[in-house]
Amino acid sequence: MSGKFKAPRGTFDIVYPDSEKLERILQIGYEILIRHGYRRISTPIFENTEVFRRGIGEDTDIVTKEMYTFEDRGGESLTLRPEGTAPVIRAYLERSLYSGGIPQKLFYFGPMFRRERPQAGRYRQFHQLGAEAIGSDDPAIDSEIISIPDIYFKELGLRKYRVVVNSIGCLNCRKPYIERLTAFLESAKHDLCNDCKKRAKRNPLRIFDCKEEACSEALLKAPLMPDFLCEDCRAHFDSVLEMLKVLGVSYEVEPRLVRGLDYYTRTAFEFIFEGLGAQNAVCGGGRYDYLAEALGGPPSGGVGFSVGIERLLRAIELEGACPVVLPRLDVFVAWIEGTSRKQVLEILASLRRERLCADSDFMGRSLKAQMKHANRLGARFVVIVGGEEQKRGEVVLRDLDSSEQWTVGRSKLAQKIREALGEQWGETDG
Ligand SMILES: [Zn+2]
Ligand SMILES: [Zn+2]
Repeated sequence: MSGKFKAPRGTFDIVYPDSEKLERILQIGYEILIRHGYRRISTPIFENTEVFRRGIGEDTDIVTKEMYTFEDRGGESLTLRPEGTAPVIRAYLERSLYSGGIPQKLFYFGPMFRRERPQAGRYRQFHQLGAEAIGSDDPAIDSEIISIPDIYFKELGLRKYRVVVNSIGCLNCRKPYIERLTAFLESAKHDLCNDCKKRAKRNPLRIFDCKEEACSEALLKAPLMPDFLCEDCRAHFDSVLEMLKVLGVSYEVEPRLVRGLDYYTRTAFEFIFEGLGAQNAVCGGGRYDYLAEALGGPPSGGVGFSVGIERLLRAIELEGACPVVLPRLDVFVAWIEGTSRKQVLEILASLRRERLCADSDFMGRSLKAQMKHANRLGARFVVIVGGEEQKRGEVVLRDLDSSEQWTVGRSKLAQKIREALGEQWGETDG
């Protein structure tokens, strides 16, 4: 029964119990964000293509190679969102969210789309949990944004990661830096790979992303951004680092960490995990003081992070972290052949009204096969309806964990199950 179709390349289904683990892991993230004063925003899955062309940058790999862009039937160019920040800033401007007070602290979760070559930890549809603090250039908000994923990962029980930070300056100090870097790359061009030769012309900052050993070696003597920071950017970066210490975040300054997009400024950071291979940045982010203007709005600084959920799940698996208690069926309602279907449904419905997690058979199985199905569903109890008990207004209640069995009046059934579940909790608590 495999059917005719497969999920498109680079996409996958999230099926239980993974889907349930994911839900729990997101809940933990939401709780932490809410604790920090962030509120949920959901933007559309597609936007006008211009939002990304301007918001991410014309010369980036994302915009030139990876976007799912299509013309809809009205001839409008739309793009499946490749990231979450530009849409959030578009919404911030369009809906004048700043009138609700700044900084606006927002978080989002959802699928993103990039047509990259699929590999471990990299998919064409992937999910991000992200947050943006918009409207403030206070370095304290940068350190808050960096501290939140740190708290999140620690709360999930993760330990094997490093927090790397850098400042990529502002337009004033980056211009002279890029001139120096470009001159250096010109002198070193014979040692660079072909991709880097192109990057040197188009987007020189991105050269630090190259994983080729020859390029890394050639770049050892490259000028580095932190040495070129203007006075304001230097002071901002120093304050961010100071406040990271106050917040208890252990970090390393990585002068080669860049976000080679025009609208990114000052703070840049990543959370690098052990054992994930090439796609080891589970979280990344930074400041983007020119993004709102690029989208046609008034100048409004902002800073944010995004967590790649698929990579996070892999990190959790590798470290054996965050054991998640999965939801369990409390009770399965089985019946003896010949029992009125109406009475079975009544019992099932009343258990659900009592807020128990309850299910029943819908395949006309024999009692034996129903018991087998209840086991497969992982039910804790089975209620057996029918027979002599039925005539006396009673049912049989069996505990599948302990094999204990009781005959219970129908009106007392939910209460009895609750008691038995409570006893179990009492034991584990004690
Ligand atoms: Zn500067
Ligand atoms: Zn290279």
